[in-house]
Amino acid sequence: MSIRRILLLHAGGTIGMAPTAKGFAPKAGLLERALAEMPGAGGDEAQIDLMLLDPLIDSADATPADWNRLAALIVANHDKVDGIVVTHGTDTLAFTSSALAMSLEGLAKPVIITGAMVPLFQPGSDGLRNLSDAIAAIGTCDAGVWIQFAGKLLSGPRARKMHSTDLDAFAAKQSDLPPSRTGTKIQHHAFQPTDIAVLPVAPGGSTHVISYALNHCDGVVLRCFGSGTVPGDPILAAGLAKAAERGIPVVAISETIKGGTSLGSYAAGAILTEHGAIDGHDMTVEAAYVKLTLALSMTRNLPDLRDFIETPLCGEFGKTPPTT
Ligand code: ASP
Repeated sequence: MSIRRILLLHAGGTIGMAPTAKGFAPKAGLLERALAEMPGAGGDEAQIDLMLLDPLIDSADATPADWNRLAALIVANHDKVDGIVVTHGTDTLAFTSSALAMSLEGLAKPVIITGAMVPLFQPGSDGLRNLSDAIAAIGTCDAGVWIQFAGKLLSGPRARKMHSTDLDAFAAKQSDLPPSRTGTKIQHHAFQPTDIAVLPVAPGGSTHVISYALNHCDGVVLRCFGSGTVPGDPILAAGLAKAAERGIPVVAISETIKGGTSLGSYAAGAILTEHGAIDGHDMTVEAAYVKLTLALSMTRNLPDLRDFIETPLCGEFGKTPPTT
């Protein structure tokens, strides 16, 4: 029987934290101890190599540079292992899972991301369970980027953190498509620095900030009502006109959890289509932000950006991919 090789990349997060005077903070040594206390994790024939990212972070501090670092390590080790487990903070875990699913092309192994709501070795911790489930999933699940959490295996680019305290903290929108970007060989499309705003509309809420972003940012993810309506506000309309004039992408998504946008359904959303907003359909806010970041890392040409964002890449849209 051949030995199953697993790379465990520890990025930080609650799973590997310990109490400090300021609250929980990353602490080295906890993942090592967990592996030592889980003999036989991944089966008798598994060899788990642990690599710690430096520095270990609370995922609130994660940036696209961290997504690049993780992706580069996955590419460098892809052909040597049977799968990769990433331990990560839960707060931005769904951004990272979307980022890895979208930026890694030709992934032929499972990448399983997990974390914990309660640190390893603290009373009531879910860390050991999530870690051992993630390691076990390497032997059973298809290539792609997945989240293993509270007994559930979820599509990386469709998942969201749904609860800030429950151990069962994640859920994923429905998807029948594998969470991976097809390609003949493993490669990474790097994220470049961008200046993107993610902003919601609200009834009677200020549109000055949205307008400022439309006038100054490289791109905007606009969280609209329902199926893609926004207030018929002159400041917002002028901002959208300015964004169109500047040739910057505005991706419209829905504030609702399910269903997504369908621009053009209501007159109340007409200013979006009139000014060329891109329909994000039912992408999660995490997936929409990551996809816009990746798109702007590749090109600043608006028709190309629109094409890239509206074309299904790695299962980030629901069952029926939108036709563009
Ligand atoms: N603040 C932590 C983080 O995202 C929360 C967690 O891991 O559960 O790093």
